[in-house]
Parts: sequence; C-alpha cells; structure tokens
Amino acid sequence: MSEQNFDIVILGGGSGGYAAALRAVQLGFTVGLVEKDKLGGTCLHRGCIPTKALLHAAEIAEHTRDAARFGVRATFEGIDVPAVTAYREGIISSKYKGLQGLIKARGITVIEGEGRLVAPNAVQVGDQRIVGKNVILATGSYSRSLPGLEIGGRVITSEQALELDFVPGKVAILGGGVIGVEFASVWKSFGAEVTIIEALPHLVPNEEESISKQLERAFRKRGIEYKLGVRFQSVSQHDDGVVITLENGDTVEAELLLVAVGRGPVTQGLGYEEAGVTVDRGFVITDERLSTGVPGLYAVGDIVPGLQLAHRGFQQGIFVAEEIAGLNPIIVEDVNIPKITYCEPEIASIGYSEAKAAEKFGADQVSSYEYNLAGNGKSHILETSGSIKVVRVNDGPVVGVHMIGGRVGELIGEAQLAVNWEAYPEDIAPFLHAHPTQNEALGEAFLKLADKPLHAL
Ligand SMILES: Cc1cc2nc3c(=O)[nH]c(=O)nc-3n(C[C@H](O)[C@H](O)[C@H](O)COP(=O)(O)OP(=O)(O)OC[C@H]3O[C@@H](n4cnc5c(N)ncnc54)[C@H](O)[C@@H]3O)c2cc1C
Repeated sequence: MSEQNFDIVILGGGSGGYAAALRAVQLGFTVGLVEKDKLGGTCLHRGCIPTKALLHAAEIAEHTRDAARFGVRATFEGIDVPAVTAYREGIISSKYKGLQGLIKARGITVIEGEGRLVAPNAVQVGDQRIVGKNVILATGSYSRSLPGLEIGGRVITSEQALELDFVPGKVAILGGGVIGVEFASVWKSFGAEVTIIEALPHLVPNEEESISKQLERAFRKRGIEYKLGVRFQSVSQHDDGVVITLENGDTVEAELLLVAVGRGPVTQGLGYEEAGVTVDRGFVITDERLSTGVPGLYAVGDIVPGLQLAHRGFQQGIFVAEEIAGLNPIIVEDVNIPKITYCEPEIASIGYSEAKAAEKFGADQVSSYEYNLAGNGKSHILETSGSIKVVRVNDGPVVGVHMIGGRVGELIGEAQLAVNWEAYPEDIAPFLHAHPTQNEALGEAFLKLADKPLHAL
C-alpha cells in the first residue's frame, strides 16, 4: 500500500470540494482532491449548467413562437433534441476542460477513484492511503425518491431526464420545488403537456407565498397543470406510459413520471460514522463553522443540512479553507444566500419573507413594498409581468428581497449586497439605476421604502 501526505485532503470534487481546494492552495496548503467521477460534480455535469442550457433553448422556442407579435417573421418548427444536446454538452465540455486546467495550474493533486474515510485524517482510494492534516468531506447528493417509489423504466429522475433523446408528449412531475418547476418550464416550451403534483399547498413552497401564487398564475396561463396539496400514492407502468394515483383518488396519465422530490446526501458506507462524525438521516452534522466536531475534519456542500445550491458549496469550501488557515472567516447564514429558480417566469430571492421577518423582528417592526413590474419600462418591452418585494426593518436594514418575472435572476446581485451589507433603503436611494433596466424596479422599491418614491404610488 502506498501513502501520500497533504495538508488538506478533500473527498469529492464538486462545487464544495473543488472550491475548498482552489482556496486552500491559494493559502499555501498542499491539497489532495479525491474524485471518483468528474471534477465539477453534479452542478457542472448533471445540474445547474445543463438545466440552464435547456432553459435557454426553451426561451428561444418561446420567442420564436411569439416572434410575430414583435414584428419579426419566424416560424417555430419544433425541437431538434440532438442539436439541443450538442449545444448543452458543448458548454459542459468546455467548462470541464477549463476546470481541469485550473485545478492543474494551481498545483492541486487529483486522485482519481472512489474514496472512503478510514481514519479522521485518512482517505483510502484503492490501495492508496491519502493522509491529511485536515480532511474535508464533500461527497454531495443524489436524486431521492419516496418510499416504495422505484426509479426505473418510465419513472425517472433529473439525471435520466437530461439524457432523453425526445420531447415527451405528456409528462407528470412529482414535486413542485426548484427542479420540478424548471423541468416543467422546459418541457412545456418544448411542446409537452405537463402536470406537476405537489404535496404542499403551493409550488416553490420555500418562497414567499405571494411569489408562489404569482408563479401558479403564470404557469396556469402557460397551460402547465398542477395539483397542489395532494400526495402521491402509487404509480403503475405500462407499455406506453404511467398511471399515477394520488391519495385523493385522482389519477394522472403520462408518458413519463419525473421524480423531483429532493436530493439525499451521499454519505452511506463512506466510513464517516466510524470516524466519529455525527450523521443524521444521512446528513453530516456540523457546527456553524462546518467542523464535524472531530478535530481536523470538516464537511461542505449538499451533505450539510440546509440549502442545496452550488454557490453555497463554493462559499462553504472557501470558508473551510480559510478556517483551517486561521483567518476566522465570517459566517453567512443560509437565509442570506441568494436563490434563483430559472423557470419562466424566473424567481429570485434572498433574506426573510415578510412573515419570517415579522416573526424575527416583531410584526410592527417591519415594513415591505411590492413593486409591480407593470410599471417598469424594460419589463414592458420584454413583455414580462411580475413583481419585486422588498422587506425592511423599520429604521433599519433591508432584510429580504423577493422577485418574480422574466430575467429577474440577474437582479439578485444587487439584492444580495443590500441584504448582506445590511444597507438601509435610505443608503441605497441616492444611487439611481440605469434607464431603462429591470434594475430600476428594485430601485423603485428601495426609493418607496426610503419614503421618496419616484414612479411608485
Ligand atoms: C437538476 C439540478 C439542477 C440544479 N441547478 C442548480 C442551479 O441552477 N444553481 C445552483 O446553485 N444549484 C443547482 N443545483 C444544485 C447543485 O448542483 C448542488 O448544490 C451542488 O452540485 C452541490 O455541490 P457538492 O460539492 O456538495 O456536491 P456534488 O456537486 O454532488 O459533488 C460531489 C462530488 O463528490 C464525488 N464523490 C462522491 N462520493 C465520492 C467518493 N466516495 N469518492 C470520490 N468521490 C466521490 C462525486 O462524484 C461528485 O463529483 C442543481 C442540482 C440538480 C440536480
């Protein structure tokens, strides 16, 4: 058996693991990064990047159908799935090459193979023992199912959905969270009939309720069907499709069922508990500084309970590298991490919903303003509707921003700076926004909360 020694060993080369590696070498550490599949993990190969490429193709399909309204002659003839796949795979392979080059250029040692934690300071890969003064666990997540709901045949997860070489005629989606509504949006734009089944009372149930309701209205207008507040009971498969039975006795027939009920942590059988790590329902429990409690052993990314987002993984990876270096990095709570759902219309949010802010700061201590995009020139040009809601503490900072509408995801940068820098609307008010932009809508909401509305009533 051979042994390699590093300052830091990282198990898993996805968003969390590779970000930790990049920051660690910047800080002068030697790093061994263990990856069994491809650097970049879920986000690059099976998550963020491929789905956003599909959503962009979907947007072009919608624009082509609508072109005549803008005075442009075009005919929508259909979706060439192999061409969409080639476009998507082209982006992934270029980003993958870029990432491999960056990891190599920074002097990170990549150890290819499946790793297992065999001691708090050591990972075994085949017959190699990779020893680190510190070890970071970053093994990510997989598509979960429900008890008794087996994946296979016409019952698929997002991984198989990305590999389809056809547009289904009719598709059912179990789960109205981010992944479910993004695929619903793509398939509808590609010409499929779509039905979403969600057990909770609203689509995107983690968002501000008024945003969920606006999405439901927009989806209804687009002809995307949904059944809310009703639980899945069973599914049967036959030669041409599936029949899904719900607990209220309703049935939904479709060619395929996409199961999008969340993602479970990849931790089983990897030696974590044997090394002294606390694992709860598969997730690695850490303190707020991402330490597992076992000296020198940290965890980052989707295996740590909370938001499962690529940029949270990046942030946690950077955090742990800096923590090991003794730089005492600041903690960013999950509530202050920006979230975007890239369906049409888009949803973007950060911070507290109005209800949560009222709970935390007191109902009479918070105020909010919701600006309707109907008043925004650029949104009118784009023919998108929606709103931007800003929540503030009275005589205090902005604590939440909640947006829905075409392209609003791009506005989250300003919103997250305002919330994380604890800016008061009065601080932001003097800095006007370029005209005509959708940013102006955010500016109008800040101006209104600073009690000097320009166009708002
Ligand atoms: C369909 C879909 C769409 C998404 N869209 C977005 C989005 O738009 N924006 C966003 O922020 N997030 C999105 N996400 C979530 C995002 O992909 C994850 O939050 C992110 O990838 C988590 O990073 P991670 O490093 O924790 O795990 P992962 O990216 O899953 O990486 C873990 C890595 O560890 C490796 N590994 C696991 N076990 C071992 C082992 N024993 N030995 C060696 N290697 C191992 C795996 O091969 C993998 O490469 C999406 C996810 C999905 C599924």
